Amino acid sequence: MSYVTHLEAAIDGTHLPHNELQTLHEGRPLWVRYDLEAVRANTTPEAVAGRAPTMWRYKELLPVEDESKIASLGEGMTPLLKCERLGAALGLNDLWVKDESQLPTGSFKSRGLAVAISRANELGVKRVAIPTAGNAGGAMAAYAARVGMEAFVFMPADTPIVNQHEAAYYGARAYLVDGLITDCGAVVREGTAEMGWFDMSTLKEPYRIEGKKTMGLELAEQFAWSLPDVILYPTGGGTGLIGMWKAFAELAEIGWLADKRLPRMMSCQSDGCAPISTAWAAGERFAEPFPNAATAASGLRVPAAVGDFMIIDAVNESGGQARACPEQSLLSWARQGAALEGIAFAPEAGACLGVLELLVAERAIHPDERVVVFNTGAAQKYVEAIGSAPLSPLSQIKGPGMSTGLADMRAGERC
Ligand SMILES: *Cc1c(COP(=O)(O)O)cnc(C)c1O
Repeated sequence: MSYVTHLEAAIDGTHLPHNELQTLHEGRPLWVRYDLEAVRANTTPEAVAGRAPTMWRYKELLPVEDESKIASLGEGMTPLLKCERLGAALGLNDLWVKDESQLPTGSFKSRGLAVAISRANELGVKRVAIPTAGNAGGAMAAYAARVGMEAFVFMPADTPIVNQHEAAYYGARAYLVDGLITDCGAVVREGTAEMGWFDMSTLKEPYRIEGKKTMGLELAEQFAWSLPDVILYPTGGGTGLIGMWKAFAELAEIGWLADKRLPRMMSCQSDGCAPISTAWAAGERFAEPFPNAATAASGLRVPAAVGDFMIIDAVNESGGQARACPEQSLLSWARQGAALEGIAFAPEAGACLGVLELLVAERAIHPDERVVVFNTGAAQKYVEAIGSAPLSPLSQIKGPGMSTGLADMRAGERC
């Protein structure tokens, strides 16, 4: 059973019924609304604490009605890691990383797609399609496989090679498209009538946000229901940032937060694809499509986001900022973070570290503030980006035997 009451159009507040398939309203996304009074009356943080360590422990704030329809691979409760060495490199005394790289399919996309596929399953969908910049396709393919649903994945031809293969590996029909994620989206849209698939594009169905929301719920629980001062989140389509901000509002409403102060939300992009930060800097609520989008952080290569105004509203309500860091600094920060902390930083999280460097320099973040960076994906999925010289030069041991190599190494030590 769920506490969902209805769906609500984000653009004009129109109510829509939740027990049938819904997509957009006036071309814009829908919010899922709950009877929060009833949630408050019927559950407690103590009850949640006794449940299995997956994101489904927050079931009262999730939309699935019939638990037998849930598509799960054990997702949730990712580590929240204190990072003293990386903090010192950035001039921060209380830096934490929420490490989403350890989720099924190696990115936080599993949270959103676990819920979206579960709800689609519950509403009778048999065939789904998705445009993807990378990780969403693999995640959707995996969860669709888990409940025996047919999956179609469309991605740009230059999507990281691991993403290309993983979707097909999980049994999806995977296609390369000559273009960007927006072009893949057009293919999915055009095929809907003929192919009879349900469109799983970011924010075009209401339930992915609910899955992403669990990042905020977990973070709150892991900090004993008190939130950090600042959150940095790498923004593509924006579901994660929007979802977390919704999570905090719902937790405040049910009275679970220790204090009323909410985090400043920092939306982070690369200057190679910065539609949200460009709009935010200009004081706009809607973003123009970003021309010639190019970044190694493939999850951020989203030139136009249908939920742009929802991202910018959350950033502004929180007193945060939407910023972009130089593309060159993103990979070097991801690599530094990996070397300093042993965390598999994805290039997307490198954008957060690059923006963090800017914000600390501008004194927009104080050294003693509690700061959380989301590492949304696993470095292992970005073999092209992390393997490209001179970013991670590997030394070669040459010659007939190890002894030559060891002699080189000793020579290296001496100088
Ligand atoms: C998709 C993705 C993002 C962007 O997430 P949104 O919630 O769509 O903004 C960031 N990082 C990684 C690793 C991703 O796969």
